[in-house]
Amino acid sequence: MEKHDVLVVGGGLVGCAAAWHLAEAGASVLVVDGGDFGMGASGQNAGSLHFQIERRFLEQGDALARQAEQTIALSRIAIEDWRGLGAALDADLHVVMEGGFMVAETPDQVALLEHKVAREVAEGLRMRLLDGDEARRIAPYLSPHIVAAAFAPDEGHADSRAVTPAFAAAARRAGASLRSRTRLGALARVRGGFEARGDGLSVRADQVLVAAGAWTPQVCALANLHAPLYPVALLMNATERTQRPRIPHLIQHVGRRLSMKQTHAGNILIGGGWPARLALAADGGFDPGTRPAMIEESLAGNLRAAVDVVPDVASLNLLRSWTGVTAVSGDQLPVVGEVPRMRGFWIAGGGSAFTLGPSFARLVARAMRGTATPELDFVSPARFDHLNSFMGQ
Ligand SMILES: Cc1cc2nc3c(=O)[nH]c(=O)nc-3n(C[C@H](O)[C@H](O)[C@H](O)COP(=O)(O)OP(=O)(O)OC[C@H]3O[C@@H](n4cnc5c(N)ncnc54)[C@H](O)[C@@H]3O)c2cc1C
Repeated sequence: MEKHDVLVVGGGLVGCAAAWHLAEAGASVLVVDGGDFGMGASGQNAGSLHFQIERRFLEQGDALARQAEQTIALSRIAIEDWRGLGAALDADLHVVMEGGFMVAETPDQVALLEHKVAREVAEGLRMRLLDGDEARRIAPYLSPHIVAAAFAPDEGHADSRAVTPAFAAAARRAGASLRSRTRLGALARVRGGFEARGDGLSVRADQVLVAAGAWTPQVCALANLHAPLYPVALLMNATERTQRPRIPHLIQHVGRRLSMKQTHAGNILIGGGWPARLALAADGGFDPGTRPAMIEESLAGNLRAAVDVVPDVASLNLLRSWTGVTAVSGDQLPVVGEVPRMRGFWIAGGGSAFTLGPSFARLVARAMRGTATPELDFVSPARFDHLNSFMGQ
């Protein structure tokens, strides 16, 4: 049986990033992934770096919007991390941080933006509220229907297909072992640590970090624990390459599901949280491992929103649409930290973990080395400890 300080379960962005930091700090780390590294949500996402309070928090009422304000502190850390990430990983991640708009088309939406920007500014986020003409002076491609926009100068995007491989390569360089096609199938608490088994795997580790995205509940079940993360299926679209319009910004909408950006190659990526249909597993639950089915209304609605906001997009051919699976938690915030009921057992996942994942992976790696990380207090699994009152061991 091989021995490591830390076993990381899941080789997406979060697992690979945490492994890199842990290995850099001198820990012996093994990362296992049941498939290939970066082929879960981390390789399927839209690549938005969105630091404004997300629309999904605003549509659920004031209580959740207030809760979302807490993520701004983490967003401010993420802004600094993303600015230095390419150099730290010695890789071209195609990071563009030239600002992001959240646009409004109606007076109600403008009122929502005003409220939101006031909250963000109070929490220390750099934000400006612009009227439609001011927004079009910075982004002439925006439709004349846009009457206002919240502008976050630090927002942007990066190439999701480059980021996880870069973290994986850095983790390897720092001495971590990474094994693909190695699915964890059994996990037992033993004195002072854990024993894990899976495809050709037999390992003893002092600590376990579950970074398995939408599969986190299944991995936690191996330790007889509940994890309040749920799989959700989302749609993404990419147009053909174009020089017109040239969109250097991230674009979101405060009242409609929309995110848009242009890749370094020139394609326009269109997403924003339109649902796809999750596959069912044989036991009747959801199967995050099977590609979700496209929903026609989602495709039509997403493209309609894109054309309404950036009319020039109407003349472009749609090159590809795809679906992906990510994890949302019981209160929409990430779940990051040690499970109080099982010392040495850590979870990191949920939320917009492309944007925030590099930062919470760095912080959880510090916490696992024994350093206090008050920045993570509000996302600790401790807030869901009641779910595990009768679990564990
Ligand atoms: C379509 C789409 C668009 C998105 N857009 C954005 C965006 O623009 N901005 C943003 O911030 N976020 C976005 N997200 C969310 C973001 O992609 C995820 O939050 C993030 O990638 C999660 O990374 P992860 O490492 O936690 O999980 P994943 O990347 O899903 O990795 C989990 C890994 O665990 C492995 N695994 C599972 N079970 C086991 C097991 N038993 N043993 C071993 N390995 C196992 C899987 O094979 C997988 O590789 C989007 C998600 C989707 C699907």
